[in-house]
Amino acid sequence: MSNPTEKVKTLIIGSGPAGYTAGIYAGRAALNPVMYQGMQPGGQLTITTEVENFPGYPEGTEGPAMMEDLKKQAERYGTEVRWGEIVEADLSKRPFICKSDDGNTIEAETVIIATGASAQWLGLPSEAEFNGGGVSACATCDGFFYKGMDVAVVGGGDTACEEASYLANICNKVYLIVRRDVLRASVAMQDRVKKNPKIEILWNHNTKEITGKKEGFTKEVTGVTLLNNKTNEENKIDISGFFVAIGHTPNSKIFKGQLDMDDVGYLNTIPGSTQTNIPGVFAAGDVQDKTYRQAVTAAGTGCMAAIEAERFIGENE
Ligand code: FAD
Ligand code: NAP
Repeated sequence: MSNPTEKVKTLIIGSGPAGYTAGIYAGRAALNPVMYQGMQPGGQLTITTEVENFPGYPEGTEGPAMMEDLKKQAERYGTEVRWGEIVEADLSKRPFICKSDDGNTIEAETVIIATGASAQWLGLPSEAEFNGGGVSACATCDGFFYKGMDVAVVGGGDTACEEASYLANICNKVYLIVRRDVLRASVAMQDRVKKNPKIEILWNHNTKEITGKKEGFTKEVTGVTLLNNKTNEENKIDISGFFVAIGHTPNSKIFKGQLDMDDVGYLNTIPGSTQTNIPGVFAAGDVQDKTYRQAVTAAGTGCMAAIEAERFIGENE
């Protein structure tokens, strides 16, 4: 027998900084929000160690601990945090009907989508082995740990060029590993990278393996082996940080065909708000943000989404 349909004022999909902040605000506004955490409870910050740039932590904090604090804060104000993910969403009429993987059907007056975006990886075993210990997909988050050192960025798009330029301000030298003999990035971004004396572009190179050392829980990257795909020559460079910048995938698949999104899948929102093309459906955090992708911006838009949901319910009651 299937579970009975449940009626909620606000359904929050996702438990990263955007989802939990939406939970804090929606809970305090007496919307009794229900949250589905998804496959990664706590979101992307649960796979990192130090977070040094979230306001309020002068000494920095551990990602998983920070997310646990956010969860407690959301629960304290009445957010019901549940295991499981939303696997289906019918947003064609209100109330919106969402189904969870454990068979629940939820009728929601408002939906806040905070499902994040996932970095794409090269898929090398050594990349996974040193992830969080020399391998990163976020220069703004982790660049500081490589101050004065040599690092590499892989990718040829705007993100890779932006990450390389950012790192060049902090690091001693930045290698930009590009698999073709051209960059995909915009001309302005290409110019910036090509003119930077600290950035060396390695054209026609693929990453073969990342090398490093492991001792107990400590791991560090020491170099990378590259393959020149024109000459088949192997080339080793010494680096301390390896940054992957080959694109992100927003977690928006279940909304395809219903919500407006760009070619990559980032949800479109009305500028200055979190309102999607469907009134009552709001999008917060990385799933709608291809520019900043930071915990604090995710939290900020989570706050906006909850305030907008509260106003929407007030206006439509
Ligand atoms: P996420 O944190 O991505 O959370 C998405 C949530 O949605 C997850 O809980 C997932 O389970 C859930 N979900 C997805 N699909 C479904 C579904 N169908 N149903 C239910 N739930 C679903 N930012 C900083 O500001 N500072 C840092 O130091 C920093 N370090 C980082 C280190 C690493 C290794 C990484 C990967 C990222 C880092 N970031 C950092 C970026 C930061 O983590 C993200 O910008 C932020 O987590 C985005 O928050 P979000 O709430 O939008 O989504
Ligand atoms: P992108 O434009 O898709 O570029 C991805 C890059 O990674 C490409 O150069 C691609 O190479 C390379 N790549 C993909 N898979 C690879 C692999 N397995 N090995 C090595 N290289 C690989 O992604 P993005 O740079 O993240 O940008 C996404 C969107 O956001 C774009 O529209 C971009 O303009 C925009 N953006 C804008 C700004 C800005 O304007 N400030 C900043 C960041 C992003 P190929 O070129 O060979 O395919």
